[in-house]
Amino acid sequence: MGLEHQLPEVITTRLESAVGWARKHSLFQYPFVTACCGMEYMATAAARYDISRFGAEIPRFSPRQADLLWVVGTVNHKLAPFLRRIYEQMAEPKWVISFGVCASTGGFYDNYATVQGIDKIIPVDMYIPGCPPRPEQVLDGLLKLQEKIQNEPWDKYAYEEKRRRRLAEGIE
Ligand code: SF4
Repeated sequence: MGLEHQLPEVITTRLESAVGWARKHSLFQYPFVTACCGMEYMATAAARYDISRFGAEIPRFSPRQADLLWVVGTVNHKLAPFLRRIYEQMAEPKWVISFGVCASTGGFYDNYATVQGIDKIIPVDMYIPGCPPRPEQVLDGLLKLQEKIQNEPWDKYAYEEKRRRRLAEGIE
């Protein structure tokens, strides 16, 4: 029996599901790498773990061409305005991954110079724990974010709502 007899002639889906599926498999990454976690980011991108299997292929070093911001490593207060500016330059829809405990909470840098969690500056969609996280953990975080993207409302009103929520939380 030929393949044409095994495939359905019509595949139905909701437009929202199709958009979510396309978005989660075509992420353009902006790596904001500041410290030692960067080694694990590179390991995740290299051949053994091959992040491109999940649709997150080539890093973009212009925020205007990226929709997934990876904050990898320690962020100090001098760096904070630049991180914020990069986030603002990315177009909606956009997502943020906080990579490792330093980015998420300041880690063991509990001092006056270090931002105690990037969510004090920008909204975060996924936190990856670890010092540093292993590539398996990083990929797990990415898959969980993809699940979230798949189920996110996609129309512009949803983005306005998201923005309003951020304003209400005092982040913007
Ligand atoms: Fe370095 Fe650990 Fe901080 Fe990552 S979480 S930047 S490995 S100190």
